Amino acid sequence: MEMKIEPLALPGIDTQRPIVIAGPCSAESEEQVMETAKSLAEKGVKIFRAGIWKPRTKPGGFEGIGTLGLPWLKRVKQETGMLVATEVATKDHVFEALKAGIDILWIGARTTVNPFAVQEIADALKGVDVPVLIKNPVSPDLELWIGAFQRLYGAGIHRLGAIHRGFSSDDKKIYRNLPLWHIPIELRRRLPELPIFCDPSHIGGKRELVAPLCQQAMDLSFDGLIVESHCNPDCAWSDAAQQVTPDVLDYVLNLLVIRDSSQTTENLNALRRQIDGIDEQILTLLAKRMRISKEIGVYKKEHNMPILQSPRYSEILEKRSSMGAQMDLNPDFVKEVLKSIHEESVRQQMIVMNDEKK
Ligand code: PEP
Ligand code: MN
Repeated sequence: MEMKIEPLALPGIDTQRPIVIAGPCSAESEEQVMETAKSLAEKGVKIFRAGIWKPRTKPGGFEGIGTLGLPWLKRVKQETGMLVATEVATKDHVFEALKAGIDILWIGARTTVNPFAVQEIADALKGVDVPVLIKNPVSPDLELWIGAFQRLYGAGIHRLGAIHRGFSSDDKKIYRNLPLWHIPIELRRRLPELPIFCDPSHIGGKRELVAPLCQQAMDLSFDGLIVESHCNPDCAWSDAAQQVTPDVLDYVLNLLVIRDSSQTTENLNALRRQIDGIDEQILTLLAKRMRISKEIGVYKKEHNMPILQSPRYSEILEKRSSMGAQMDLNPDFVKEVLKSIHEESVRQQMIVMNDEKK
């Protein structure tokens, strides 16, 4: 499906990078919303975010203040002049949000995964001209993400934007959601007109990661940032660990180095950042493989088995090198890499065995 995505054309917002959207994860009370919004407006933020309806992984958490909070966002518009944005997940949310004059809607990661839900939102928006930002689905599925843009586009919503908020993983060592930068980079290649925002708050899950992730997003030529900011982050009713005060946000934004994306070296930088991201993934996977290998060492020790199981080793080398060949990788190179990984696995298992002897 051909899409001619139009610029967001947000009134009063210039398109200079980064376009900043900031505000609390959730609207909690009128005071919290107004205090946060006023501080952000003083720092020059022009678009305010706040979740009114909150999709929660498990029941029992704060599921959002609901329609009660919409007049607070209206007040933010009137008193600060900021545009306001909120998440919608059902047709009812869409009707309520539009009725309350919300300027920008976004679709959350847990909704983007569900084509029925996205279609329901698209149908509810037929005939309306409102910009919609779509967060990536929780799973790293670019086609599903693009499918959501197509559903909205098909309903006549041509002012679209993407929000990269990272992908769910059981590996929560550094990030709450793995950035997998190659996915938004591929989205940019597929839909070059689509503005892409980075959500460092949900990727990082902790406030220390907000600044480096914002910088990485700028280095990858993202168009904007959507950052969770709360007047009293530690007391936030949702996502407390990842929210920053408006002061901290201002500090982070002022330190950002914005490189000129029109320079040809920007392409080279983008490719290098992609390589950096892939290396990080390789290392994460290697660390995981070593952990499993050590567990195997424990098993072998308990069952009095030798470390080296030659048939298994030969099988690994043969199968992986032909698998590599199918992926256009030189089989000798694949064998070399695997030999070296295997060597380190054996060394780790020897350590495990010796430790256990003590
Ligand atoms: C949010 O923006 O607060 C949110 C719920 O994010 P996500 O959909 O990315 O999890
Ligand atoms: Mn949140």
